[in-house]
Amino acid sequence: MNQDCIFCKIVNGEAPADIVFENERLVVFKDINPHAPVHLLIVPRQHLRSINDLNEEDAAIIAELTLTARDMARKTGIAQSGYKLLFNVERGGGQVIFHLHMHLLGGWSG
Ligand code: 5GP
Ligand code: ZN
Repeated sequence: MNQDCIFCKIVNGEAPADIVFENERLVVFKDINPHAPVHLLIVPRQHLRSINDLNEEDAAIIAELTLTARDMARKTGIAQSGYKLLFNVERGGGQVIFHLHMHLLGGWSG
């Protein structure tokens, strides 16, 4: 838990969010400023700054983020129409919240 991190606060229930799924290792909630009709953030409970901070032993959590994104795409009805999965990495890559998260974006028409 990083006391200054908003995503740590959300995954620990100390800040509000529109949570759509959670388990022991990750939490999925709606992006507060959506860039697509469906815009979910898939967030490990563990505080890792970015993809740059991953170690070999973090492979399982990255796999679970991806499989959870697949499940959330099915659940929100966008699996067949299609979607994007995205990690922004560090400032130049557009990252503004320095707690690792995957974006699930989809639901555009046609
Ligand atoms: P990044 O650019 O770091 O990959 O994406 C951070 C995302 O988190 C942005 O899309 C932003 O809208 C979202 N976000 C930032 N603060 C909050 C918050 O307090 N609650 C929620 N639900 N989303 C947030
Ligand atoms: Zn954090």
